[in-house]
Amino acid sequence: MEERLPSYLSRKNGDLWLTEDEYDNLKISYRIKEIVFDQKSSFQDVMILDSYHFGRMLVLDGIVQTTSVDGHIYNEMISHVPMAMHPNPKNVLIIGGGDCGVAKEVSKYEEVERIDMVEIDKLVVKACLEHLPAVSGNLADPRVTYIFEDGVKFAADKIQEYDLIIVDSSDPIGPARVLFEKSFYQSLHQALKDDGIMVCQSQSPIFHGDVMKQSYSRISELFKEVKMYTAVVPTYPGGLWSFTIGSKQHTEVNASKVNNKDTQYANRQIIESCFSLPQFITEKLK
Ligand code: SAM
Repeated sequence: MEERLPSYLSRKNGDLWLTEDEYDNLKISYRIKEIVFDQKSSFQDVMILDSYHFGRMLVLDGIVQTTSVDGHIYNEMISHVPMAMHPNPKNVLIIGGGDCGVAKEVSKYEEVERIDMVEIDKLVVKACLEHLPAVSGNLADPRVTYIFEDGVKFAADKIQEYDLIIVDSSDPIGPARVLFEKSFYQSLHQALKDDGIMVCQSQSPIFHGDVMKQSYSRISELFKEVKMYTAVVPTYPGGLWSFTIGSKQHTEVNASKVNNKDTQYANRQIIESCFSLPQFITEKLK
């Protein structure tokens, strides 16, 4: 029977390849051993692919979201940096985060009492808990509540409820586009307590400098303190990736809070130094 593959999967000399083609002039291909999971939800194609170079990976509509080999870099950096900035976060909201990697990192802190994870697509959570344990950690923490709805709608009517909000979104295309709007950041500001902190992934400084700057400026218009930091995530286009923190009050990190949290990338030195930005980013943010 003729093998029917989506446009981003192809066969070359019998080998299966995933080609990320979200850019007109840049194609990134990964040789694939096996399609572990493949279902279409009402939002996107959800795949778990076993790749030769990066192990198992979550792929949404043909775009690599996280992998067994480098997913921890992103998940640790978007979680432990804001956790080091807030002195005592008890109520945490995660928007997106369907691979459960962020919830896994946040649950390493005993002081956290509640983790609400608002993921629009329950199929992503199902696929990652069942087939991507290297990222999801088979998360079963009783403090985690899965809420399967649009993060924009969920956040719109919350007032002073959270100490920390982590926006772990996919790229600003498809269902995640709304998670980059100023109105969404405004509702996060309202949903945070007086000393609350929000953090979002703000895309590639190399390929998405405009989106990065736009997120940074929108957040800086709303929050007393805005800080950007970076990390290198090999499977993200261009490698270098940016994160933007908006804080209502706290401005310093207590980097030693990350000690003994069983991390593979984030440590005290990394958390203290990640806010040092390359000149081109500093210029861009002026
Ligand atoms: N760490 C990865 C990255 O930086 O690309 C992505 C993490 S996670 C896979 C992104 C999640 O955001 C996806 O599971 C997607 O379904 C979810 N998502 C997209 N739009 C959303 C929305 N409006 N509300 C809630 N979740 C959303």
